[in-house]
Amino acid sequence: MTNKLRYFIANWKMYGDLKSLKSIDKVIKFTKLHKKKRFKLVYCPPYTLLHAFSDKLKKSTISIGAQNCHQENEYGAFTGSINAKMIRILGAKFVILGHSENRNDGDTDVIINQKIKSALKQKLNVLFCIGETFSQKKKKLTNKTLKKQISGGLKGLKKNSRIIISYEPVWSIGTGIIPKNIELERNIKFIKAEVKKQIKLKKVTVLYGGSVNLKNILTLNMIASIDGYLIGGASQKAKNLIDIIKKTYN
Ligand code: PEP
Repeated sequence: MTNKLRYFIANWKMYGDLKSLKSIDKVIKFTKLHKKKRFKLVYCPPYTLLHAFSDKLKKSTISIGAQNCHQENEYGAFTGSINAKMIRILGAKFVILGHSENRNDGDTDVIINQKIKSALKQKLNVLFCIGETFSQKKKKLTNKTLKKQISGGLKGLKKNSRIIISYEPVWSIGTGIIPKNIELERNIKFIKAEVKKQIKLKKVTVLYGGSVNLKNILTLNMIASIDGYLIGGASQKAKNLIDIIKKTYN
């Protein structure tokens, strides 16, 4: 169907233990057998598994990422927090920032912007999540919301920063409901244009996230402007993740 480079970001959220690592063997094998397919797979396990994942994936083409980080770049008295330097030392190359679950926990655009700057300073690739709530969508505030998140989050960044946008309508996350293709196409076009206004990037990469699964992946793949997927629930089973990638490239 396609051989364009697509990202598949497996966001394990607060799931997984050392036993879960066994399931990754199948995925490593799959990536070895499909070297010619131009996909980039990134596992974002909870902090507690970053080191183990890093060890396990050392010789593979799969990268690892963290699901968040603190905005402070130096070590300090921030109980319960982990900064970008610490996750980079553990082997992470990516970090998810601005996820709606963290925005709900108090991450403002200003804090997210600080986190992004701190992550970029550590040479991490940032997966910057944006998306409107159902109530914002109903009130026709989607564009306004996305614009505010983009200008706030990306404020003051240097050109060609390592930023990948993940468009995640909050009402799609974990609900099994995805936007209609026409709506998704329109929003992704809007996001690409807004990001271009804010920061000079060689290419604006926009992923889609929100209930991506085996049932809807073919529909989503029809949208050429989508550069990949951030996958939560469906990424926890190796077979599901492999099948989603297979369906994208077959
Ligand atoms: C997410 O965690 O960002 C996500 C998209 O989750 P799910 O795929 O489970 O909706």
